[in-house]
Amino acid sequence: MKSYNICVIKGDGIGPEIIDEAIKVLDTVSNKFNFELNYEHMLMGGAAIEVFGEPLPEQTLEVALKSDAVLFGAIGGPKWDNLERHLRPESGLLKLRKGLGAFANLRPAIVFDELVEASTIKPEILKDVDIMVVRELTGGIYFGEPRELLEDRAYNTMVYDKFEIERISRVAFEVAQKRDKKVTLVDKANVLETSQLWREVANEVAKDYSDVSLEFMYVDNAAMQLIRYPKQFDVILTENLFGDILSDEASMICGSIGLLPSASIGGKVGIFEPIHGSAPDIAKQGIANPIAMILSAALMLRYAFDENEAANLIEQAVREILKEGYRTKDIANFNAKEICSTDEIGTHISDKIAQL
Ligand code: NAD
Repeated sequence: MKSYNICVIKGDGIGPEIIDEAIKVLDTVSNKFNFELNYEHMLMGGAAIEVFGEPLPEQTLEVALKSDAVLFGAIGGPKWDNLERHLRPESGLLKLRKGLGAFANLRPAIVFDELVEASTIKPEILKDVDIMVVRELTGGIYFGEPRELLEDRAYNTMVYDKFEIERISRVAFEVAQKRDKKVTLVDKANVLETSQLWREVANEVAKDYSDVSLEFMYVDNAAMQLIRYPKQFDVILTENLFGDILSDEASMICGSIGLLPSASIGGKVGIFEPIHGSAPDIAKQGIANPIAMILSAALMLRYAFDENEAANLIEQAVREILKEGYRTKDIANFNAKEICSTDEIGTHISDKIAQL
């Protein structure tokens, strides 16, 4: 029997609640497809700060590096917001991404037919929207040096090396080859030198993918076009900061941030996590939407283990239960038949997988 080792990081806020549901679903699907999943639970973020005084303990990184994939909930919360930057939960996440070399963040934004009404945008604009944001994850302004906060001045550095742009561009073109064969590079080339380099490199890489078209769009325009006519996008390729912002915007097109998964790949071990944070405002109330987390587990099966059928089945089960009208509170006002808790949604999805 095939067997996979997963480093599970529940983290803070709603992280533990949604991870429990992902594991429930993974157990059902692994039974059905006859593979074994071994979970090793490790601490990170605020939970690790409480025990070890640091957001990413050495042993967590070690176990992550030895595993076949990292399944990650979310980290952070007001309790740790005033710590020094390197001690904050978010620094742990940046360090984990860097440590695993996960430079490519894939963020699918799909509008489920059943939830078209859930968006604040008109249904006819939304139907059939299926965008993949490919965000660079280990470079750019989040990592660039020098950086400093002084009394009267602060600065950060946006820096990219050619190899970083080239490898993420290749990921985007390869993803586009399996989709509608269009890459839109989102940048700010009219102002930023880094963006000019992105354009040069993407143009070079494009020569190796003659079946894929490459377009360019300034980030301010892209922010507007995403709301105006999202169907024009297939794959959005962009740097770290722009991708962070645009993928959250894309999530609102889909109805709720609680629906969107992500895969961070390209390095030794992939990280699979929802795009949202730890949502401290709703933690421990049993109302968090676990679907983004569950769909992240599906991406793990597809990208880390090549268990495509199992991944497809999870996605199908999510669609089915939405069709049947089960909703968490964040998407409750959209054709809900029943408002469910986090645990109930996980159970509906798991039961559906068993039935299908
Ligand atoms: P957030 O994504 O946690 O929450 C934004 C809003 O969306 C909140 O109103 C929240 O209740 C809601 N929401 C998020 N996920 C939801 C879900 N699954 N179901 C229903 N509603 C959901 O962003 P924030 O409030 O800006 O940040 C909260 C904390 O999370 C901060 O400490 C931040 O640094 C951290 N954070 C962590 C990650 C990560 O772990 N990858 C990402 C972003 C933010």
